[in-house]
Amino acid sequence: MISKTDETLGIIGNTAITHALSSSLRDGSLSHAYILIGPSKIGKATLAIRLAQSVNCVVENQGLACLECSQCTRIAAMNHADVEIITPGEEAETDTSTGIKRLKELERDVALKPYEGKKKVFILRDLDDMRNENFNVLLKVLEEPPADVLFVLTANQYEYIPGTVLSRCQKFDFLPVPSFDIVQALTKQEKITEEKAFSLAILSNGSIGWAIEAARDDSIVEQYLRDRSDFAAMLAYDLQGKIAYGEKIANLFWRDRSLVLGQLSMMINWWRTMMLFLQGNRTDVLPEEEESLRQICGSYTVFGIVAAIKKTRDTMDYLNSINNPNPRIAFEALMISIHS
Ligand SMILES: [Zn+2]
Repeated sequence: MISKTDETLGIIGNTAITHALSSSLRDGSLSHAYILIGPSKIGKATLAIRLAQSVNCVVENQGLACLECSQCTRIAAMNHADVEIITPGEEAETDTSTGIKRLKELERDVALKPYEGKKKVFILRDLDDMRNENFNVLLKVLEEPPADVLFVLTANQYEYIPGTVLSRCQKFDFLPVPSFDIVQALTKQEKITEEKAFSLAILSNGSIGWAIEAARDDSIVEQYLRDRSDFAAMLAYDLQGKIAYGEKIANLFWRDRSLVLGQLSMMINWWRTMMLFLQGNRTDVLPEEEESLRQICGSYTVFGIVAAIKKTRDTMDYLNSINNPNPRIAFEALMISIHS
């Protein structure tokens, strides 16, 4: 367990970001708005909370959160009147979603004085999901906020964030956390064996948040390995079999969008594993997956895998960015392209 954060702010990986922010916290030169960009479960939300704690902490710790005072603990429990997490892209199809309503209210609320802390902190999560026209609301909110307000925005990628929003924030790009750091964190904090930590580090693909969740809940890994092995088996199906596999996933889209997007990122991870295997890398491959990799990899080239990764990523972007996507057609096209 960490007590009193140091310059890493208690975040695993991405030290260039945490060191830069710690030094701004130390000399009081924090900007009024930040945007943290990177894949999900990589530490963006945790860092946003650490910033909120650091600016409100009442213990002298060089401007960094002590994690123990009443301010820090209340913020960690999200039980603090001046720290709020808003997800403006939630239920983006309707204009009456709580996230958007709340964002509109912020125009008025930023002017209010902090109630129990030193600074009001608004954490605006997952901006990629926000509808285009609502970015104008966000822009107004970000315009000249009072000095006692801090905005921390998060997004998975740049593509859907207008330049006008980006230019009002200081930007930080999160990178996948190296396997070595994940193994160290899991063995130390989660007290799991090195062998298990190593497997999780490989499967997590640099997503420390996923690795921690999986270390605490075996069913997450079991399900993920099952999905990977289903996908690997599907690669040997004929075209009809592949399309049926794609259709099954597509049908889940309107019920559970994030599950479907998760399946696509699982596919990308599997392609990456295949690429490593083809290139002769055995250290980043799970021993239990070697046999099925050996069977599949014969019919793939590195070039083919690169194309498959691109197509899978395009499918993800399409499902993410269009207001009313057609998941069935998207998956059918993906399966046809994988087949060829
Ligand atoms: Zn504190």
